[in-house]
Amino acid sequence: MKQAERVLVLMYHRIGEAHNDWERRYCVSPELFAAQMERLAAKGMQACGLDDFFAWLAGDKPLPEGSFLLTFDDGFLGVYEHGAPLLRDMNWPATVFLVSQLIGKRDEWCRSQNPGGDTYPLMTQEHIEALRGMGFSFQSHTRLHADLPTLSDEQLADELGGSRRDLEALLGQPVPYLAYPYGRYDERVLNAAREAGYQAAFSVQPGFNRRDVHPYRIRRLDVFGTDTPAMLLRKMYYGANDGSWRQTLRYYGGRVKSRLGL
Ligand SMILES: [Zn+2]
Repeated sequence: MKQAERVLVLMYHRIGEAHNDWERRYCVSPELFAAQMERLAAKGMQACGLDDFFAWLAGDKPLPEGSFLLTFDDGFLGVYEHGAPLLRDMNWPATVFLVSQLIGKRDEWCRSQNPGGDTYPLMTQEHIEALRGMGFSFQSHTRLHADLPTLSDEQLADELGGSRRDLEALLGQPVPYLAYPYGRYDERVLNAAREAGYQAAFSVQPGFNRRDVHPYRIRRLDVFGTDTPAMLLRKMYYGANDGSWRQTLRYYGGRVKSRLGL
């Protein structure tokens, strides 16, 4: 087995129907999600579990080349409805970052950002339990999807530590990992996450994760609802969010320039 030297983390949000361009960025249709997963499988790639990812990061366990971690931010019901059946058939685990005070409610934080003003349902405790039975892992995305750098120290401790406590009570097991809402964090937020008891945190900075990645700055690729399977493969090849041919040309242009010493 050829071992992975670097592992990508894919970040999805909602699976379902998108109704405007803003939603198409954050929402992948069920058909496209299936096509993307099947294309990755056909290329010999496979999703790994969260524990295996961190064991690999710690140098305790190898992962086969082509391993990636599949993550879903926010806990949308559509992931349960449209994503889980396919992932169960493929035997691929996934991780969901939950907004602990909005379980069974709707993505209220999106109302002001979505030009259509629509909100979408989030999973209930019953959905979460069913997915846990399928090997899904659930971790923290704060209590109310807070924009962490804007909070006072006290609010920060509540959003971070409070969410961890909410979820540990709900799940009956430790919740050591966090995804920063909107990918927004700074040095103070990072330290507060550590103090709140998180062992690692996921950013939205694109790129490959090697074993020397900072544990509170784990990189993720943002998968858009407009990414064809071929574009997703290109994103994963380059470790970049831009899967267009323009990006490919830039990459090779850069390599030629560096070879020429420009
Ligand atoms: Zn989010």
